[in-house]
Amino acid sequence: MRSTMQDVQLTIGSILEHGTNLHGDSEVVTATPDGVRSASYAEVRGQVGRLANALRGLGITGDQRVGTFQWNNTEHLAAYLAIPSMGAVLHTLNIRLFPEQLVYVANHAEDKVVIVDDSLVGLLAPQLGQLDTVEHVIVAGPDAASADLDALRATGKQIHLYDDLLSAQEEDTSWPDVDERDAAAMCYTSGTTGNPKGVVYSHRSAWLHSQMVTTGNVGGMTWEDRVLPIVPMFHANAWGLVYAAMMSGASLCMPDRWLQAEPLVRFIQQSRPTLSGAVPTIWNDVLQYLDAHTDVRLDSIRRILCGGSAVPVSLQKALADRHGLEMRQAWGMTETSPVASAAGVPVGVSGEEQWRYRGGQGRLVCGVQGRITADDGSVLPNDDEAVGEVEVRGPWITGAYYESDDPEVDAKFHDGWLRTGDVGRIDQLGYITLTDRAKDVIKSGGEWISSVDLENALMGHPDVLEAAVVGIPDEKWQERPLASVVLKEGATTTPAELRAHLAKDFAKWQLPDAFAFIDQVPRTSVGKFDKKVLRKEYADGDLDVHTAD
Ligand code: ADP
Repeated sequence: MRSTMQDVQLTIGSILEHGTNLHGDSEVVTATPDGVRSASYAEVRGQVGRLANALRGLGITGDQRVGTFQWNNTEHLAAYLAIPSMGAVLHTLNIRLFPEQLVYVANHAEDKVVIVDDSLVGLLAPQLGQLDTVEHVIVAGPDAASADLDALRATGKQIHLYDDLLSAQEEDTSWPDVDERDAAAMCYTSGTTGNPKGVVYSHRSAWLHSQMVTTGNVGGMTWEDRVLPIVPMFHANAWGLVYAAMMSGASLCMPDRWLQAEPLVRFIQQSRPTLSGAVPTIWNDVLQYLDAHTDVRLDSIRRILCGGSAVPVSLQKALADRHGLEMRQAWGMTETSPVASAAGVPVGVSGEEQWRYRGGQGRLVCGVQGRITADDGSVLPNDDEAVGEVEVRGPWITGAYYESDDPEVDAKFHDGWLRTGDVGRIDQLGYITLTDRAKDVIKSGGEWISSVDLENALMGHPDVLEAAVVGIPDEKWQERPLASVVLKEGATTTPAELRAHLAKDFAKWQLPDAFAFIDQVPRTSVGKFDKKVLRKEYADGDLDVHTAD
């Protein structure tokens, strides 16, 4: 029997119309050097129409790709809404990619137009000449006219000022009929191995994912909320927070390029968000700032979503106990749109026991299925004991990469499931606990040692700001853990003391015997610990390694 429901398509255009027509009074607030600028959603709707008309005028048709090289701000929001609604494909370019990766992804996606923030012109200009398919560049932002446009023009591309281009356009535009399974947006993974790989999101996948982000188990968003996506819109869709806000009618607070603790805290005080999302390193910085400025309270925030890498329990507890900030860990990756699980606590669990759940990667959300597989590909039980690679599937999980010629790419999929490259276990209630990235596992004398658990415990030590643990070759045990530790300003400690701290929770054979004190943990283009670099530094003899005895 066929259903009698109407076949209405789930499109970004429908999110645009809902958010800007029914919630026209909600606003987007963007940080500026000396305060904020704001626009109502009704005004954003006008901007979106003009942007779409301008892009048509530059020749964008069909599913051509429009790149964005932008921070989180009003203009990026307009691009998020206009480009998919006109049937074209939004390609968010990660501004932190290495130059050769940026060139690779823009050429691979065949971007025709790039919208760039005034503050990022200097970063784009040196590579622009190599972006072969790009014909037009639109420079956006309050200071676009004073940006170094000559550097862009020198590449032979046509350069336009956003405001000039848009002011010549009508607001009204006719949107084409879009099929919900057509591409709406694409994002490349940061490519820790090989070339970056493109993930193409459909209107339907973005719609379903965003609606899931609004639900109580994740963001719990209503039109009374003000949402602060600190996670960049150029990285994994800002976790769906932008479309989710528009769906809920919630206002948006956009930090633009001011992501350091001090300006961020100031912006939070001015724009008063209720919900925010960012990786742990940002919240760690905010924590240090708040600890040093005890008169500052971020009392508008009711929930922080945090993920992208493991969120230490010590960070969550410190923010909750000392500053009244509740954090909820979420897990996912570019390939999963990205949110696949969120760490709410089961009913009836409280006190110390709740940290077992809040410290893990969370419970699978409805729509995402998860399983664990062994090295030979056999499926292991979700019994919280079996450890293996986590595999997921669902309507917002990618089933392939965009035109990839990487010979290893097929190994990323397994009978219709995505192999996440994350290693851990899943319990009967769908809670995931990760112990490692597949490429980061430490196997010592045949036994696994979890780098994530060691890092979390080290970061719980009062003198430690950050810690990253990698496996280093060992003649007797094949591999042993090496802990690279960043101490807090003015703090001193010794390997023996750190080992004693760890010994409370770990068996003796799991304790690192080698420690390096470093100034900062190397980061990838998306701000995660770059363990490759640490391993190389160790191999090259560049780390000052101390043993515990
Ligand atoms: P890339 O895969 O290019 O590094 P992503 O942002 O897509 O970029 O990274 C996804 C990965 O980040 C996941 O596979 C996982 O290893 C890690 N990750 C994300 N969220 C968490 C979390 N809450 N806890 C631990 N690891 C996480």
